[in-house]
Amino acid sequence: MVKEKLNIVLLGGPGAGKGTQAEKILEERSMEHLATGDILRDEVDRGTELGKKAKSYMDKGDLVPDELVVNMVKKRLENEKGYLFDGFPRTTNQAKALSETIDLDHVVYIKIDKSEAVRRLSARRVCSDCGKIYNSLFKPPNRKGICDECGGELYQRDDDKAKVIRDRFETFLDETAPLIDYYEEKGLLVGVDGEQKPDEVYAELQKAIC
Ligand code: AMP
Repeated sequence: MVKEKLNIVLLGGPGAGKGTQAEKILEERSMEHLATGDILRDEVDRGTELGKKAKSYMDKGDLVPDELVVNMVKKRLENEKGYLFDGFPRTTNQAKALSETIDLDHVVYIKIDKSEAVRRLSARRVCSDCGKIYNSLFKPPNRKGICDECGGELYQRDDDKAKVIRDRFETFLDETAPLIDYYEEKGLLVGVDGEQKPDEVYAELQKAIC
C-alpha cells in the first residue's frame, strides 16, 4: 500500500543538492517544505529577534544553536500534509527533539565530498527578489546576473564564499555526520550518490522513497 503522508529528511553537506532535490520532490508530491536555512535567511532579512541572534553564526558557517532552531521548526509542525525537512535536523539533539514530535519515514543521505561542495557552491547565485537558485555549472540564467523568472538581480550568498564553504563542510562533518549512523541504526537511512547529475540523483532518490 502506498503511504500518502510521508515525512522525509534530506541529509547532506553543503552543496549536496538538497534544495535541488527538494524542488523535484515537490513537483510530484504535496508536502510541506521545511528548509531551515531558507527560514533563517528570511528571519535575518526581516531583522527579527531570531534573525539577529542567528546572523553571526550563519556568517561564519557555524550552526545556529539547537534551541533556537528546534523552537522555530516546532512552531511550524501543524500541517496535515507530510513534511520534507531540508537542512534539518543537523545535530543529534535536533534529531532527538524532532523524534518527540514526528515519526520519520525516510532519511535520504545525499553524499558529496568537500572539493565538489566548494566547486558547486562557489558557482551558485540566488535571485534577490524571488529566491530562485542558479548555478553557472549546471543551471545558468539566460542573461548573466539576471533571474529568468522575475528579472531580479542575482547575488552570491555570503556563506557561499570559498573559505566559509570549507568551514560549513567541517561543521557538517563534526556536527551532522553523526546523524548518518544515528538514522542507520533506526533503519531509516538511504544513501544516494550526490555527485551524479541532478536527474540521476533524483531517480535514485525516488526509488528510495516510494
Ligand atoms: P543552508 O541554507 O541549509 O546551507 O543553511 C545556511 C546556514 O543556516 C547554515 O550554515 C547554518 O548557519 C544555518 N542553519 C540552517 N539549518 C540549520 C539547522 N538545522 N541547525 C543549525 N543551523 C542551521
